[in-house]
Amino acid sequence: MSIAHNLKNIKNEIDSLHVTLIAVSKTKPQADVLEAYHAGQRIFGENLVQELTEKYQTLPKDIQWHLIGHLQRNKVKYIAPFISLIHSVDSLKLLKEINKEGAKNNRVIPCLLQIYIADEETKYGLGFDEAIELLVSPDYKGMQNISIVGLMGIATNTDKQSQIKEEFYELKTFFNGVKQSFFKNDANFKEISMGMTSDYKLAIEQGATMVRIGSDIFGKRDYTTK
Ligand SMILES: *Cc1c(COP(=O)(O)O)cnc(C)c1O
Repeated sequence: MSIAHNLKNIKNEIDSLHVTLIAVSKTKPQADVLEAYHAGQRIFGENLVQELTEKYQTLPKDIQWHLIGHLQRNKVKYIAPFISLIHSVDSLKLLKEINKEGAKNNRVIPCLLQIYIADEETKYGLGFDEAIELLVSPDYKGMQNISIVGLMGIATNTDKQSQIKEEFYELKTFFNGVKQSFFKNDANFKEISMGMTSDYKLAIEQGATMVRIGSDIFGKRDYTTK
């Protein structure tokens, strides 16, 4: 199946549900991104800063680039001028750095807090309590050059549908609480980024507003990355 065809199938499925598709193009060549672009896709997700900036420089400028992978503080400066959304904010220190670079570039950078929902040691993210700590901190309140527009989570890599469903449900429930307590009058706080190729249907059932899909669009990757 072609990339265009795969995209169309997924779009048919999710467009009526008002879910935003992030096409995850990590490890894939620019030609593949262009194929998806010519089929109408404009939002792409990458997990490595270097690969992201290289693609940004050569591909069409109306692409909206999302960073979905772990972000090191010393690399924020490379993406700050152009990034559309950072899904993976997992510490106050990182958020401070993004705010600083946002100021340098005279812009407000949209961010999601990555929440740890998986039953695995390897995944990055804030615990529920850590996310609350961040949101009540005076440091956060003073930040003018970031905007937290929602939450992101990655479910456990398992075949147990009930467990994945439970993890997405927890993220949605936490989102509702955070919205009520911290963003009640902020219409921008509305995104829940959850679900990838193997579990996006469950994620949408549980309230995802953004799904991050790679292999279902571009085919299997040659090597696996975090
Ligand atoms: C790679 C990746 C995806 C996409 O994974 P697929 O299984 O290929 O759909 C989604 N989210 C994150 C954070 C990723 O790193």
